[in-house]
Amino acid sequence: MASTTMAGARSKAGARFRAISAGLAALAVLAIAPALRGAEGNGANGPARGEPPAVARGLHLVDAGGEAAGLVVDLPREVNVRVSALAAPDRLVIDLDGVVIAPGVPPLGRAGQGPVAGYRAGLFMLGQSRIVVDLARPALAERVDFVRQAGTARLIVEIRAVTPQRFAEQARMDRASRLAAQGEETAAIARPPGAKPLIVIDPGHGGIDPGASGAKGELEKDIVLAFGRALRQAIEAEGRLEVQMTREDDRFIALGERVRFARSRGAALFVSLHADSLAGESDVRGASVYTLSEKASDAAAARAAEKENRADLMAGLDPDTEARDGIGDILADLARRETRIFNQLAARAAIRAIRHGAALHKVPLRSAGFRVLRAPDMPSILIELGYLSNAEDLAALHDDRARAALARTLARAFTTFLTERRDAISARVQE
Ligand SMILES: [Zn+2]
Repeated sequence: MASTTMAGARSKAGARFRAISAGLAALAVLAIAPALRGAEGNGANGPARGEPPAVARGLHLVDAGGEAAGLVVDLPREVNVRVSALAAPDRLVIDLDGVVIAPGVPPLGRAGQGPVAGYRAGLFMLGQSRIVVDLARPALAERVDFVRQAGTARLIVEIRAVTPQRFAEQARMDRASRLAAQGEETAAIARPPGAKPLIVIDPGHGGIDPGASGAKGELEKDIVLAFGRALRQAIEAEGRLEVQMTREDDRFIALGERVRFARSRGAALFVSLHADSLAGESDVRGASVYTLSEKASDAAAARAAEKENRADLMAGLDPDTEARDGIGDILADLARRETRIFNQLAARAAIRAIRHGAALHKVPLRSAGFRVLRAPDMPSILIELGYLSNAEDLAALHDDRARAALARTLARAFTTFLTERRDAISARVQE
């Protein structure tokens, strides 16, 4: 993301300063460089080397008159701040470098103030927290100030209503900056000869994006991470595959980044883990395994893909920008034939395994346009482990023994598939 460093304008002592004037507010992407880092910034997202993260101990919204609201973050020191505007739905994304949010600070604010409808906050990537401000009407960050007092640096982002035209213009400029800042796509690489086949486990959601939720606040992001860890352990116990996970803790990763992670490591199989929730359909239960298709196998599969594809939007990413990961338009010409065959066979192997370890959905093999399954050259499947809206599924997903048992049968199935069946199938496909 491009940023405009405003360090030259700040006062040396780091006391209160006006980061941006109303006239400059057209530059909604802005940054404040703290004194210890110098005017050039460190060029990276993380904190400077050796610097501990800045722990945010307070986060709230204050009224600043009918047309304005203030977002207040209590930090131990000043940090780099970037604000950008995203349209449809209208949002402001505030990135705080080197910041983690203290446990106990509510990550959600729904009570609206002025033009702000609510906000969500969470770890966005390593060494960076993000606050997504949902707007009730067009507004921009007119002022970004740090107020220093007694060992704290209080960040105040003043959000003020603007005309729809002004907002749209700003969002367009910010989008152009993001596109310009996009790096080269990562090509799939071949694994060294003799290396164990690599399976990449992708626990869905995380950080600012909780995914689906159950009646008592159970979160998909926690459930799929717990399952991902159990699956990794079980695959490692089998000993014939190498395993990596796209995330091992509660952090947000963009959909395209998950695919890049696996392709850049030469994964033989990518397994994305999810759990669904259906309002008003608490009797629907069981696991489903999805592969990529242009046309969804059924209406429910289409809805599932639409929900999962919203993950980036939840975290304040611009799907158009993310689509430039080089795999965005694969759906048009679809994956290579061999990959398609592998997708099908891997999905069937997973279903046979799940049948022994857990409940299956009445139509377990389905397909839809999941963004996370769009790699043309890497077999990919997505498992919806069950429904958080179904009491039996939810209980099974939280049961350590049930989880371990399902992980073991899947681990065995993936191991057999990648070590024994793959070469035989490959040879046949090449003919
Ligand atoms: Zn999901």
